[in-house]
Amino acid sequence: MTTNKYDLLLPDIPYSGDKVIIEYVYANHTGYEFCSKTRIVDAVPAAFEDCPLWDNYMWDDVEGKPENLKEMILKPVAMFENPFFRSPHKIVLCEFWLNMETPSTINTRYTCKKTMERLNFDPISGYRPKQPHDPWFGIEQEYFVTRDDGVPVSYDPKKYNYEKLIIYTKIGHRHDKNIGIERELSNRHMTACLNAGIKFGGLVRENGPSQWEYQIGPCPGETIGDHLNMSRYILQRLAEIFGLRVTFHPVPVHGSPLTSSGHLNFSTSKMRAKGGITFIRHAINLLANSEQDPLLKMYDPTLNQENNERLSNTSGHWHPHLHKFVCDVANKVFVTVRIPLLVNINGYGYFEDRRPSSALDPYAAADGIVRSSIFGDFL
Ligand code: ADP
Ligand code: MN
Ligand code: MN
Ligand code: MN
Ligand code: MN
Repeated sequence: MTTNKYDLLLPDIPYSGDKVIIEYVYANHTGYEFCSKTRIVDAVPAAFEDCPLWDNYMWDDVEGKPENLKEMILKPVAMFENPFFRSPHKIVLCEFWLNMETPSTINTRYTCKKTMERLNFDPISGYRPKQPHDPWFGIEQEYFVTRDDGVPVSYDPKKYNYEKLIIYTKIGHRHDKNIGIERELSNRHMTACLNAGIKFGGLVRENGPSQWEYQIGPCPGETIGDHLNMSRYILQRLAEIFGLRVTFHPVPVHGSPLTSSGHLNFSTSKMRAKGGITFIRHAINLLANSEQDPLLKMYDPTLNQENNERLSNTSGHWHPHLHKFVCDVANKVFVTVRIPLLVNINGYGYFEDRRPSSALDPYAAADGIVRSSIFGDFL
């Protein structure tokens, strides 16, 4: 019996038969909007490879051009427990293929995987490291709970000066009249992700009105995208149940200081070992000396339109500025790349690129930081 009015994760009609419910989840052509369809199978799949291929009608380009609307193969690549129907029911994340041999042009996971493989052997330079790089990624996903028109529900510019206001980590209704229901969504999302088997790191009440953050990772290679995208899907599904709307859009109110980030944290085995700060600084040097544009395009699935707006907005001070590369230790103000305080004290760990927006495509972003800071592809 449900006693808590917020205990919404129980299905209305519990199912206890032998069939297994699988939700097929995929990002559409935008790379950050999610879709799903459900399929019933006879046996519990042990891994994603046991889930049948499916097909789906979708745009094969980020702009959604009519001529690129195609039937494509929906290929499962990662499987999680289904937090809505619970075990043994599953949710699987899928990527798109044009046919059995050719990945779709929107399949950034495929390209990301190739770059991760190149870390073990670079066919271009013949480079093969003595020790595997073992890349790890962590992403901080910020989002706003919004009204139907996309404006954060608790946004009230007449009452508050959001350039000065710090709501970050605060509790209570003083600056956010909807904080109770928002926190409930945010906490429910955490338990649902943990039940699913997602590498959820934690969450925090963010600085803007109705703004929240959670962290995914660290996850090796392209799996960061599998875990992040599935966590985004679960958040949108839970928001449906709560009757709330969430947005990953980096600039929910044009011209206001409100922006959402998707900070990208990155390390290799050498950076994580004693004395690894040398390798961290080396990677940051490559980033700083690279051409910024190709990487910024990979950090924004809208090919640098929405994120340009965020990084050009000088009213907020918690995010870096476009075309001004600043690296600092233990500082978040106007900083492009940050070495966290404890990493600097320990002399090893990871670093943070603060440029990616909340709408980042995690596969493209992870791909981009490796190509830029390890291979120096954009020098
Ligand atoms: P902050 O808000 O101070 O930037 P958070 O705690 O919100 O820090 O996020 C830290 C992120 O760093 C998390 O996503 C976590 O997964 C990631 N992370 C931690 N250790 C590593 C590591 N060794 N390599 C890559 N990412 C890491
Ligand atoms: Mn039909
Ligand atoms: Mn954070
Ligand atoms: Mn944040
Ligand atoms: Mn951060």
